[in-house]
Amino acid sequence: MSIINDDSKYIANTYARFPLAIVKGKGALAYDEAGKEYIDLGSGIAVNAFGYSDDEWVKAVTGQLSKVQHTSNLYYTEPCTRLAKMLCEKTGAKKVFFGNSGAEANECAIKVARKYAEDKGIEGAKIITLNNSFHGRTLATLAATGQDVFHKSFLPLPDGFLHIDAGDIDAFKALAEKENVAAIMMEMVQGEGGVMPLTEEFVKEVCRIAKEKDILVMVDEVQTGNGRCGSLYAYMNYGITPDVVTTAKGLGGGLPIGCCMMFEKTENVLKSGDHGSTFGGNPIAAAGAVSIIERIDDKLLSEVKEKSEMIFSSLTGAKGVKSVSGQGLMIGIETEKDAGEVIKECMGKGVLVIKAKNKVRLLPPLNIKKEELKKALDIIKSCL
Ligand SMILES: *Cc1c(COP(=O)(O)O)cnc(C)c1O
Repeated sequence: MSIINDDSKYIANTYARFPLAIVKGKGALAYDEAGKEYIDLGSGIAVNAFGYSDDEWVKAVTGQLSKVQHTSNLYYTEPCTRLAKMLCEKTGAKKVFFGNSGAEANECAIKVARKYAEDKGIEGAKIITLNNSFHGRTLATLAATGQDVFHKSFLPLPDGFLHIDAGDIDAFKALAEKENVAAIMMEMVQGEGGVMPLTEEFVKEVCRIAKEKDILVMVDEVQTGNGRCGSLYAYMNYGITPDVVTTAKGLGGGLPIGCCMMFEKTENVLKSGDHGSTFGGNPIAAAGAVSIIERIDDKLLSEVKEKSEMIFSSLTGAKGVKSVSGQGLMIGIETEKDAGEVIKECMGKGVLVIKAKNKVRLLPPLNIKKEELKKALDIIKSCL
């Protein structure tokens, strides 16, 4: 109990935490102070891609820990170079910038878009984002986030963002006519917005028009990326080639890392001195990320898809379920009962799930065992 009491006393009260202290875990299983076992279908919000203390990841991280923990970006280190090469070879990106979080990855993308526009002689460049999106909590990424609830109390926010509804191609067309629109940034599946996938039709049409008008397509894969949606990055499900891709959460497998990938059009936008981060590309986080990315292969991705189908077929039409949305192992369940109540009951019965808007959200580890997933789904259904 002292963990929970002291946390409330000494840590800024910005999180509505569940009354649970997790003291250890292995794979998809987590344990509290009393030794109670939970099947964790939240993965630390899509971060623990291979679950808790995964053996290979631990080996990669601890191996690096006893070599070099940090050098600053004044020098080179092997893990961050290796990770960059892997990401570029697997995506077609030309250059990457490493930060430490999703918001930082998006800050980098925003800077890239603004400088790309400036290089073309455009002043006061605008970036289009979608209503109901989530791009982070720093001031610029808050401004990008198309949800007013996150804005209130923090005005003035940085200028330069325009919002349209997901799927509203006419709104995009109208804005694309303006000279100062530099980029559009979007999540392929809106995560915090309620696990809402964009339609292929909308995404493809946006990309077609953007290409015509030289508007950068920037995909926020902070949550959807790194195998979560059944492909290495969710944009690959849509058959598009973006100009910028940002990612974080699952990339580090549990250590803080963010990455902004720049493709052909944007690879040389940032020059020496334009951007930086003391901790960015940290060798321990990068070594962990290498061990994650090298294991997201076709075999793992086909298992992700199989488990996704398991979830959809188990929950679609089940008692108390209004709808199931999402891609891969990023799933939203619209429930007849209040989602908060369902989540609380599941926790009581040993299953950890989280919320997205009014939905119950599932983000299980990519390597969760099918038996564990099945057991957890049965428990969820018993709480609906
Ligand atoms: C979580 C999230 C972010 C913010 O990432 P942080 O690491 O919390 O800064 C940005 N975009 C999306 C889509 C996210 O899900």
